[in-house]
Amino acid sequence: MTTAIVVGAGPNGLAAAVTLAEVGVDVTVIEAADEIGGGTRSGELTLPGLLHDHCSAVHPMGIGSPFLRSLDLERHGVSWCWPEVDLAHPLDDGGAGVMVRSIGDTAEGLGPDGRQWRRLFGPLADDFDELAEDLLRPVVHLPKHPLKLARFGPRALLPATMLARRWRTDAARALFAGVAAHVYYPLTAPTTAALGTMMIASGHRFGWPVARGGSRTITDALAAILAEHGGKIETGVRVRAIDELPPADVVMLDVTPGAAADILGDRLPSRVRRAYRRFRHAPGAFKLDLAVDGGIPWRNDACRKAGTLHLGGTLDEVAHTEREIHAGRMPDRPFVLVAQQYLADPSRSAGDVHPIWAYAHVPHGYTGDASEAIIDQIERFAPGTRERIVGRFVRSTTDMAAYNPNYVGGDIITGANTPLQVAMRPRIALDPYATGVDGVYLCSAATPPGAGVHGMGGYNAASSALRGR
Ligand SMILES: Cc1cc2nc3c(=O)[nH]c(=O)nc-3n(C[C@H](O)[C@H](O)[C@H](O)COP(=O)(O)OP(=O)(O)OC[C@H]3O[C@@H](n4cnc5c(N)ncnc54)[C@H](O)[C@@H]3O)c2cc1C
Repeated sequence: MTTAIVVGAGPNGLAAAVTLAEVGVDVTVIEAADEIGGGTRSGELTLPGLLHDHCSAVHPMGIGSPFLRSLDLERHGVSWCWPEVDLAHPLDDGGAGVMVRSIGDTAEGLGPDGRQWRRLFGPLADDFDELAEDLLRPVVHLPKHPLKLARFGPRALLPATMLARRWRTDAARALFAGVAAHVYYPLTAPTTAALGTMMIASGHRFGWPVARGGSRTITDALAAILAEHGGKIETGVRVRAIDELPPADVVMLDVTPGAAADILGDRLPSRVRRAYRRFRHAPGAFKLDLAVDGGIPWRNDACRKAGTLHLGGTLDEVAHTEREIHAGRMPDRPFVLVAQQYLADPSRSAGDVHPIWAYAHVPHGYTGDASEAIIDQIERFAPGTRERIVGRFVRSTTDMAAYNPNYVGGDIITGANTPLQVAMRPRIALDPYATGVDGVYLCSAATPPGAGVHGMGGYNAASSALRGR
């Protein structure tokens, strides 16, 4: 029987494990932390009874993932739930760019820019299921749906700032910029429109849901499916060298390229080692979880109903702050993401005290405390928030890397989205998952299609391993 070891029980490691176990491979997963899940863990962080997502919170890529959709996660306890408003981007004048799942309602809310919004995202949302099959693969592959991809490609290659200028109002431009900023790269660079365009298309196809009971339920479901196929998981074991592992035909590494270079040592061909050492990491995240009595008193009504909020002002302001963090400078008013998962999943609150998830984009390895800057950004659009805070939990970039070794310097997307690394990550190679060591593959978010709880890196890497055998 073929045997496999998977190092790391994040969504990609578990996706690889399930893919291998499903075809009869004897799989063991080894995880450094005491708990599985990597970026999908959830628990009490501020006050008893309040459920927080430690990392990932909102899942437009999870619900749209061809791999996760193939698994019937619902049978194992995943229950997607949606807030009334998927995304809001408030502005200083009290208005906001607002996205809901219905493209018609979103377009109506965007007034004079509604038609352009619908023209761009309508066809992409209609084609999303097919597009996802191509977009969540390595860029260099034989496309399954070339015509649909051809419709997506030309816009995606643009800088986000250039694509945003097709709209005239601050609200529409900012709404797009906030989603585009998930790319964590200066928005004036080529290809930075791609991720935002895909996330919005997914939003109009599936919405931006959260998982009832926390993001942890997604990887708990993967672990349950793995167990059904006889797979095992060991926690609390950090792998530092390949020789520590029991013999196996296949090894999947849900780690960064730098960690893979450490683990594989001299076995790694020198050209691959050089490429892994050169792999560039993204700026960092500074995470702040809050317990807020009565919830956040947003000035804008749609914000009170929104599962996700992007706080960063206009397109120009968001572009400026993203440029600053990329250059290693901390802006006074960083780009902040907020999630109010309890609106879709009330079981996360304790009475009228609600868990609020937030993080700021900060420079790589930022050593300062961004808590007050985050609260200031919330106050900017929701005066009176500060007095309502009754609990907080902080995770700096250093804490983030200690919590999960894949988050080097607070890089929560496991690798910068430079144009080269968007096209080819983690190195220039026909098979980006192969390490050059026989039977050993990299499967983390450092590989295509990059960050997010979609499991596609793990699925693609395991498929590559199976082809290799
Ligand atoms: C604050 C934050 C917010 C986010 N928000 C979202 C969101 O809303 N939606 C979304 O889709 N994504 C979000 N993400 C990103 C998402 O969580 C990650 O892209 C995703 O978890 C990557 O999966 P992975 O399996 O590649 O790696 P990870 O989830 O990082 O898992 C890697 C696992 O490997 C283990 N490991 C590493 N090295 C070793 C070793 N040497 N030995 C043993 N085990 C090891 C780690 O402990 C970890 O459990 C967020 C991330 C963070 C941190």
